[in-house]
Amino acid sequence: ERPKGAMKPLPNLMETELETFGASVIEDFTWKQLLDTDSCTMCGRCTSVCPAHATGKPLDPREIILKTGEVMAATGDPVVSPPIGVDAEISISANSMFERVTPEELWACTSCKACDEICPVNIEILDKILDMRRYLSLMESNFPTELGNAYRSMENSGNPWGLSQGSRAEWIDDLEGVEVIEGGEPLESEFLYWVGCAGSFDDKNKKVSRAMSQLLTMAKVSFSILGPSEMCTGDPARRSGNEYIFQMLAAQNIETLNSMGVKKIITQCPHCFNTLGNEYPELGGHYEVVHHSQLLEWLIDQGKLDMTNAELNERLVYHDSCYLGRHNDVYQAPRKVVASIGGLEVVEAERQGTQGMCCGAGGGRMWMEEDTGKNINVERSQELLATGADRIATACPFCFVMIDDGVKGEGVEETEVKVGDIAIHLLDALQPKEDQTKPLETVSQGKDEND
Ligand code: SF4
Ligand code: SF4
Repeated sequence: ERPKGAMKPLPNLMETELETFGASVIEDFTWKQLLDTDSCTMCGRCTSVCPAHATGKPLDPREIILKTGEVMAATGDPVVSPPIGVDAEISISANSMFERVTPEELWACTSCKACDEICPVNIEILDKILDMRRYLSLMESNFPTELGNAYRSMENSGNPWGLSQGSRAEWIDDLEGVEVIEGGEPLESEFLYWVGCAGSFDDKNKKVSRAMSQLLTMAKVSFSILGPSEMCTGDPARRSGNEYIFQMLAAQNIETLNSMGVKKIITQCPHCFNTLGNEYPELGGHYEVVHHSQLLEWLIDQGKLDMTNAELNERLVYHDSCYLGRHNDVYQAPRKVVASIGGLEVVEAERQGTQGMCCGAGGGRMWMEEDTGKNINVERSQELLATGADRIATACPFCFVMIDDGVKGEGVEETEVKVGDIAIHLLDALQPKEDQTKPLETVSQGKDEND
């Protein structure tokens, strides 16, 4: 059975004789996808949790289902009745989904899966959106211009930042204990630490890679990184419909990993975690993949990270990542990591767990402009700030960037509220007080104001 976080597989695009990919007509959907349109009770729960809809984008997940039903009723063979409440006389001139669904609706989706998760009759809305994106991207090259830049960077440079692969391991700088291994050499460490593109190239997330490496070294975990031999997993390409680039990157990564005999992978990126663990197996890459939150939880449980003096006398709120949470059902590990810090008051945001609100960057949205309505990261950052937390913890590099930008955009400085990955907060707690990145004096001032 397909893992929850995996997209529908497509054949190898370099070998297949198929001439069309994705969904543009009713016949392109599976029977389950079409039956979904009949099962919809029109309760609107999906719409009520959609971050794109809530912030004024032209996307309404319930409408995606109803419009699919309308097109099926008008053009399907055999003839079926339209969804209840839909105008039976609606005129659809061609046998195309795009008679009713616009590309703008489809590109507004962050692939957060909140709609699928809340639907009482298990309708899969996201799958349909991604199938139609595949058609737009692969068959019509109809995608936002900015996304084209990310595609070119992934294709030519091996990462969506378009930076030189040779600089992938520069984040290590003077840090000791991080071994960079050439792709193809046998891996002798227990774990391959898959740093990810954000952890390698984005300034905020390089700090996460450094913090994580220090924690692994403290816990005496045997690990190596690939450095220049690691490529983007292809997640942003796949979620935005470009299966061609996804398959190209996946094939190169799998060849590298298999030639090294890699068995266990640690990753701090839920998108890499999902792709490596749930999508590479169908392409021949079989690894035991652990998210850093799960490994840190285990290291703490086993006493390999000594938490005796770990202390932060502050309030912290954890922001759920969609690809760790709803796509992979990992909700507790990051919470347990921060809860193990002495003195820390861990609070929850209004929307959390299965109903946690997306940061706005998933589904390739990280690489697209957001020029309609309110920015999703602003909405989410305001909700997190409303908890009065001194620290906001993330467990995804995209969430880190989006929430940090959102918080700073509200005029809140790092000395007041520190946004960071769980590894950064954990390492801070383990440091002597004078070395913590957010001095406790400013922390207590901020807390008093919020209280
Ligand atoms: S996956 Fe998220 S953004 Fe996309 S339609 Fe569903 S709720 Fe909206
Ligand atoms: S939550 Fe499910 S049943 Fe309710 S409107 Fe959305 S798709 Fe239909």
